[in-house]
Amino acid sequence: MKIWLDGALRDSESARVSVFDHGLTVGDGIFETVKAVDGRPFALTRHLDRLTLSARGLGLPDPDLDEVRRACAAVLEANPVPLGRLRLTYTGGHGPLGSDRGDKGPTLVVALGETTRRPDTTAVVTVPWTRNERGALTGLKTTSYAENVVALARAHEHGATEALFGNTVGQLCEGTGSNVFVVLGGEIHTPPLHSGCLAGITRHLVAEWTGAKETDLPLDVLREADEIFLTSTLRDVQAVHRVDDRELSAAPGPVTAKAMRIFDERSAADIDP
Ligand code: PLP
Repeated sequence: MKIWLDGALRDSESARVSVFDHGLTVGDGIFETVKAVDGRPFALTRHLDRLTLSARGLGLPDPDLDEVRRACAAVLEANPVPLGRLRLTYTGGHGPLGSDRGDKGPTLVVALGETTRRPDTTAVVTVPWTRNERGALTGLKTTSYAENVVALARAHEHGATEALFGNTVGQLCEGTGSNVFVVLGGEIHTPPLHSGCLAGITRHLVAEWTGAKETDLPLDVLREADEIFLTSTLRDVQAVHRVDDRELSAAPGPVTAKAMRIFDERSAADIDP
């Protein structure tokens, strides 16, 4: 497997990042996961915009987007797969032990994994831990994912593939790696960004293409919603058939099925929407 590290394509077996890289020692880094269909990255411009916003939020220098684009193209060309997930990682770079940044500049890694289309439906659980809607990192796609790793392990213990968080004021927020939508009386709603959720790219496109509304939703809405679905780069639009102990009969319901269809059609028609 060929990956991109700091300016060049390298063999993943021999590519090396410093053991003092702050992405490793203090989780000082950001990332993007970009879907690649037949070697073409989907919504790359939006991912690069979010990468820049995350870098600024962490006080990292703006990534060189020309280099990132070249890196994505080179990695995709060197590792042809029908459906891939590009992983762009950008860290504070080599620095002293402790939280002060060094002066060697950031590290950029672009790697590729093969992936498969996710099933149309899945089970989710809610977790007792909260997303902080007012934290320094809220809304940034940082590599500090340990909380999500713990929540996802809880989901797997219950035969689910995603864990949903509320925020500190009891509102529905998001999943470990996805945004959440609910259908109430035929209308589609999703938590607003001030709930603390990530500005998901799939969330944005689905909301625009289906007319979904941003609404403050209590966590309890999951007990009464007619339909629930998740969105993310790797799930696209995925219906929820079980949330905790509640089975949602006939998932995907009609509104979710329509959202799936719209997303599939529009995203196939435009690779960089
Ligand atoms: N929320 C979180 C915490 C995520 O990590 C992700 C994606 O990884 C999403 C939502 C979905 O975002 P996107 O649709 O851009 O993949």
